[in-house]
Amino acid sequence: MADFVGAVDQGTTSTRFMVFDHGGNEVGRHQLEHEQILPQAGWVEHNPVEIWDRTQSVMRTAMNNLRLDASDLAALGITNQRETTVVWNRRTGRPYYNAIVWQDTRTDAIAAALDRDGRGDVIRRKAGLPPATYFSGGKIQWILQNVEGVREAAEQGDAIFGNTDTWLLWNLTGGTHGGVHVTDVTNASRTMLMDLETLDWDDELLSFFNIPRAMLPQIRPSSDPDRYGTTLANGPLGGEVALTADLGDQQAATVGQVCFSPGEAKNTYGTGNFMLLNTGTEIVRSSNGLLTTVAYKFGADPAVYALEGSIAVTGSAVQWLRDQLGIISGASQSEALARQVEDNGGVYFVPAFSGLFAPYWRSDARGAIVGLSRYNTNAHLARATLESICYQSRDVAEAMEQDSGVTLDVLKVDGGVTANRLCMQLQADILGVPVSRPVVAETTALGAAYAAGLAVGFWKSTDELRDNWNEHERWEPTWSDERREDGYAKWKKAVSRTLDWVD
Ligand code: ADP
Repeated sequence: MADFVGAVDQGTTSTRFMVFDHGGNEVGRHQLEHEQILPQAGWVEHNPVEIWDRTQSVMRTAMNNLRLDASDLAALGITNQRETTVVWNRRTGRPYYNAIVWQDTRTDAIAAALDRDGRGDVIRRKAGLPPATYFSGGKIQWILQNVEGVREAAEQGDAIFGNTDTWLLWNLTGGTHGGVHVTDVTNASRTMLMDLETLDWDDELLSFFNIPRAMLPQIRPSSDPDRYGTTLANGPLGGEVALTADLGDQQAATVGQVCFSPGEAKNTYGTGNFMLLNTGTEIVRSSNGLLTTVAYKFGADPAVYALEGSIAVTGSAVQWLRDQLGIISGASQSEALARQVEDNGGVYFVPAFSGLFAPYWRSDARGAIVGLSRYNTNAHLARATLESICYQSRDVAEAMEQDSGVTLDVLKVDGGVTANRLCMQLQADILGVPVSRPVVAETTALGAAYAAGLAVGFWKSTDELRDNWNEHERWEPTWSDERREDGYAKWKKAVSRTLDWVD
C-alpha cells in the first residue's frame, strides 16, 4: 500500500499541495499565491483559470521535489475557501465570470431584500444561516442577473455552479472530457441553498434566488469510500489517484484538530478567523449570531454538525498594514513592531472592512480606529491590530458559550497568524483561557488528508487520528481580570462606533 496521502488546500490567498505520512506528519509541500482582483470598493474576485493553473503547478512541483509518483499516494483530498462562487460552461470549461470571493459585498441589496419579507427566517431555519453577502446563493443570483447569456445557459444545464472544490474536482477528473460535478455536505451548507436536515438542495430556497437546480453539483459525503473520481494519468500527479475527500477549509481544520466529540472546538487564524464547535449529530440553532453548519460526514455515518463564528477580517488586517499603510514590510514584522510598546496606548482598531460578521452580522459597519492621541505611533496601531484579532475571537467565544452552555477550558488554534507569538499571548490574555497550538499547524490540509485516508482505510478510525495530535506550544493568561474586562468593555464601545456607517 502507498505510504502517503495528498491534500490540495485551495485558500483565499494561495493554493498549496501537501503530502502527509501515516503519523499525520508533513512530508512536503508547495504553495503559490494568486491575484486578488479588487475592481471596486467591496468587490473581491479571483480568476478561476489562474487557480486551476496554480493548483496543477503546486501538485507537480511538490511531487517532483519529493520524488514521489501517483502510486505513492493512497488517496487525495480537497479542501477549499468556502462560498467563493464559480460559474462555468460545461462544454467549453470556460468560466463566465471571475470567481466572486466570500468577502465580496456586492450582493448587499440581495441579502437585505431577503429579510424584508420573511424569506430570511426560512433561510435561518432550513439552512442555519443568516441572509448575508458572505454565502454563495446571492453570488450565483448576481451572476445570473448580470452576466450576459448565463441565465439561458443555466436553464439548459450548460452553465454550472461550484465553489472552488467543485471547480478543481471537475478539472482534476477530466473537465470537458468527463469531469465530475460534485461537492460535499460542508461546502453545500454554505450556500443558503441546502436544507441541513435533508442534506439536499431545497426547492424553496432555490426559488428565493431563482437558481435552476440543473446548475448545482451533486452533494456527497465529505469522506467517501465511493470515490468522487480519479485523477487523470496525464494530469498533475502523472497517474490515477482516488479523490475521496472534500471539505470546506474550516471544517477540514476541525477534522485536522481532531475535534470529533461534541463540545470540542478550534479557532483558525487566516485571512479571517473561524471558530467551530462540534455539536455532534444534533443541529443547534444559534440565538447569538453564530452559524449552524455541517462539520463533516464520513461515508454512511450520520452528519456531524457545528456552531461556527466567522470573522471576516483578521490576518487580512495585518496585510492591510503591509499593503495599504506600508508600516510593515511583511506580516511577521507586525510582531516586532507591536512588541516595541507595552500596551495598545488606548488605541482600538475595528477592521470592519466587509461589514461585521459573527456575532454582529452588520453589513452596514465599516472600519474604525478609535482612542487616538498625539502620543500614539505605528507600534500602537500594530498592537491594536493584533488585539482586534483576539477581541473578535472573544466576541465569538462568548456567543458560543451562550448558545451551547459549553465553557472552553482551552482553545485549540491553527492558521497563519498563530506564527505570531505575541498575538497568541494576547489571545490567552483577552480570553482568559489557555491557547494551545499543535505540532502540525497546517490543520486544514491535514484534515482533508485525514478524511481522504479514512475513506480508503489508510487510517482505520478517528481514534487513530487522535493519537497523532500533539501540542507544540501553549500560552497561559497573564492579565488581571480587571485589565481583561476593562479592555473588553472598550472594545465593545469601539465596535458600537462602526455600526450604521453605510446607509
Ligand atoms: P488563508 O488560508 O486564509 O490564506 P493562512 O492561514 O495562510 O490564510 O494565513 C495567512 C494570513 O496570516 C495572512 O492574512 C497574513 O497576513 C497572516 N499572517 C501570516 N504570518 C503572520 C504573522 N507572523 N503575524 C501576523 N499575521 C500573520
